[in-house]
Amino acid sequence: MDFPQRFLDKTGFSNIQPAFIFNYAMFSRILMGDLLALKEDIRTVEIMLRRTAHYLYPASSRMSNIYGEEFAFSIHANTVTLWTHNGQILIAEVALASDLKERENQIKYLLAKTEDFTNGFVLCANCDKKIKYHENMKHRYCAGLYCGTCWENSIKEKAEKENYN
Ligand SMILES: [Zn+2]
Repeated sequence: MDFPQRFLDKTGFSNIQPAFIFNYAMFSRILMGDLLALKEDIRTVEIMLRRTAHYLYPASSRMSNIYGEEFAFSIHANTVTLWTHNGQILIAEVALASDLKERENQIKYLLAKTEDFTNGFVLCANCDKKIKYHENMKHRYCAGLYCGTCWENSIKEKAEKENYN
């Protein structure tokens, strides 16, 4: 089977970005296993899909919550980080415990944060208070969203300093 020519540019690559999405049940299950091996397996699929789609970069792996909303995630050592699907806003981050009972609860926490986001809430990246996403969109620094208090007390100044440099 040949790859449809109409999707290829002059360099022979397509602009079709391949992605693969773990649903919440599978996402929970795979995080219960060996994380190093999982990372390698994800990398393998990323490369396989990239080749299939003639895409220049590896495919992106995402997870979807019970509402079907997708989130980007990364695994570094035992730390799992979730962002909005475009990677712009941090949703949650946990260092997974080796104790499997504890890990199960941590995974539930991650899923709960994605559900909160779909319902319009995120955690302030400084004080962990649950805040409304849309109301605090303007309190953004790096990938974090901040509550009004944290923003006024410290983050705003940091963000402004960086903008002037
Ligand atoms: Zn705060």
